[in-house]
Amino acid sequence: MGNNKFKILVIEDEANILSFLETLLVTNGYQVLTARTRAMGHALFLSHTPDLVILDLGLPDGDGVEFILTVRARSATPIIVLSARTTEQDKVAALDFGANDYITKPFGTAELIARVRAALRSHHQAAGAQPDGKFIAGGLMIDYASRQVLLDGQEVKLTQTEYNIVALLSEHSGRVMTYASIVQAIWGETDPGSTKKLQVNIANIRKKFGSKPGDNPYILNELGVGYRMVEEDLERK
Ligand code: CA
Repeated sequence: MGNNKFKILVIEDEANILSFLETLLVTNGYQVLTARTRAMGHALFLSHTPDLVILDLGLPDGDGVEFILTVRARSATPIIVLSARTTEQDKVAALDFGANDYITKPFGTAELIARVRAALRSHHQAAGAQPDGKFIAGGLMIDYASRQVLLDGQEVKLTQTEYNIVALLSEHSGRVMTYASIVQAIWGETDPGSTKKLQVNIANIRKKFGSKPGDNPYILNELGVGYRMVEEDLERK
């Protein structure tokens, strides 16, 4: 034990949240370092090279976004932003500056652990590189080789664009993707007007998945920010 554990640095100035996170992460088998200021967090980051950082944006000695910029200048270590801020712009800005994901306070423990797992996995394993070339989450199965999508064993007929969107989200499963990053990957455009085009495609995908508006168990809507595909099943038969 010990050496093979993932090391997580938590930077958060609120003592009760910090100790709650520490207990939760230790219970789930992670090694935890804690810091209550940006300066302390930065020092620990440099001295301990953690596998993942959970970062509060509102810190007493500066904005967490500055920490993201400093870290991104030299490392690809995943960063999950912990935000009490309610505006979507703050979340999108943190993601644009290089954060990998965010979680909004107050958060559920299962939700936080799922985010941590997804961030660590996407960093340590090439996206879409399952040995059998398939993505499986509940009743959803994507076969990357044949570009087929099956839902509860039935093929879902998607257009090329719709398939590309579903495949892209699945390769980043468990993590939010901003509208801009999806649009750029699918159409190679950065025009904000293209978000509408994306939303239309997502609506069509949902229709084909047979889900009611606002209720899709596979593609989650992060209002004002982007979309998140549910986490891939960890256990394979
Ligand atoms: Ca704070």
